[in-house]
Amino acid sequence: MKLFRFRGGVHPESHKQATGSKAIEAMPLQKRLYVPLQQHIGAPAEPQVRIGDQVLKGQLLANSQGAISAPVHAPSSGTVIDITEHTAPHPSGLGVRTVVIETDGEDRWQDCQKTINPFELDADEISARVGAAGIVGLGGATFPSAVKLNLWKKHPIYTLVINGGECEPYLTCDDRLMQERPDEIIDGIRIMLHALHAKQALIAIEDNKPDAIERMKVAAHLFDNVTVVVVPSRYPMGSEKQMVQTLTGLEIPAGKLSADLGVIVHNVGTAYAVHSALRQGRPLVSRIVTVGGGAINTPRNLEVPLGTLVSAVFDYCGGFGESPARLLMGGPMMGQLLPHAEVPIVKGSSGVIALTEAEVAINRPRPCIRCGSCINACPCGLLPLEMAARSRKGDLQGAVDYGLMDCIACGSCSYVCPSHIPLVQYFSYAKGELAARRRHKQKADETRKLAEVRMQRMEQEERAKAEAAARRKAEREAKSKQEAVV
Ligand code: SF4
Ligand code: SF4
Repeated sequence: MKLFRFRGGVHPESHKQATGSKAIEAMPLQKRLYVPLQQHIGAPAEPQVRIGDQVLKGQLLANSQGAISAPVHAPSSGTVIDITEHTAPHPSGLGVRTVVIETDGEDRWQDCQKTINPFELDADEISARVGAAGIVGLGGATFPSAVKLNLWKKHPIYTLVINGGECEPYLTCDDRLMQERPDEIIDGIRIMLHALHAKQALIAIEDNKPDAIERMKVAAHLFDNVTVVVVPSRYPMGSEKQMVQTLTGLEIPAGKLSADLGVIVHNVGTAYAVHSALRQGRPLVSRIVTVGGGAINTPRNLEVPLGTLVSAVFDYCGGFGESPARLLMGGPMMGQLLPHAEVPIVKGSSGVIALTEAEVAINRPRPCIRCGSCINACPCGLLPLEMAARSRKGDLQGAVDYGLMDCIACGSCSYVCPSHIPLVQYFSYAKGELAARRRHKQKADETRKLAEVRMQRMEQEERAKAEAAARRKAEREAKSKQEAVV
């Protein structure tokens, strides 16, 4: 199959050797699980349990609300002991509403609705079950998967792209999943193909994962419409835009979706979750997590119940051989900086990485020498140095004019910058600031609209009162005239 090259990109050291050959192990169940109600893009889920409730594994804890949202389920059986704010796995260190479960150690599943033949179900039923299972993009984007499965109603979908790129350094959770559970992944892919009415599935795997490629090819060989495509290892191959361009030669225009081009992209972990939800009726309550970085004594791939604290995961991996200089959720290029390790594993946690000082190589930023390396590295064809200069001055509109909203925050520009300018951090800050301003404006607009509606209602009431008074007066006058005649 012909492949197309995307512009820019970099080749960071992969650091995948430490965990790439390690089979997935089960993380032991912890006494307490901290299950945030927002583990996805969109509105937080609304609690359906109260403190003191007994819950079974897989039981609904909180339901989705709104079009873009996802429910959350109990990762094990036990008692709800609190519904409170707990630190989110986010650099802000802010709290997010969280259900705290004291586990009973029995790990008892609720009754699950198994389906012998999901291909007898129609598309709406499949996406409804995927939505009810709380499945979101497990590559880290955490966009509710059911919403993507419904896009065929708006755009004809020809190709389902399955992202097995895993181009982020250190991460090997998708690699191991493909090596160990290929038949289940292929089944999930075929179910999604059926739901999307799509013609073909292309499973893209970087050429640095030969065992996963082999296992997936064997699992896919019976199905003519499912093809494994080996793509070059080049960061950010795993990013949706770059992967679609590599496979189809099509560039997703700014502000558009891949669905506009007839393509939907899902991660291999998402395909596995769809298989579990449809075949076993099991909602998403655990995920595969790579535990790595030079500070960790025993790097591993673990299947971790959601809500397990990162500190417990690090302890299970032998703790730190060296004090970590940086804790990350996800990889070092696009991952989130963690404020500390007392935060829970969530649906988007592909890895938890503890980097040593040597790995972090903290360098003091120096002035831009206008070498242009960041421009050459940018896979989106942007001018990072110009965007950064404007973001730094607070000229956010100027940064937007230079394409800030097209930036996929891949960090390639920061990676190559010889002056060690934290370019991507400027962009994240600027986007956060713009989002806050948008929210503020939206709130102000809503308040203004409410005030206008209230004013209109009061005016209507005043008018109605005046009309009633005039009516009553006219009736009184008519009555007195009648009495005078009599
Ligand atoms: S790579 Fe760094 S030093 Fe070179 S132009 Fe970009 S911002 Fe300036
Ligand atoms: S972080 Fe943004 S600006 Fe920098 S290389 Fe990636 S897409 Fe380009």
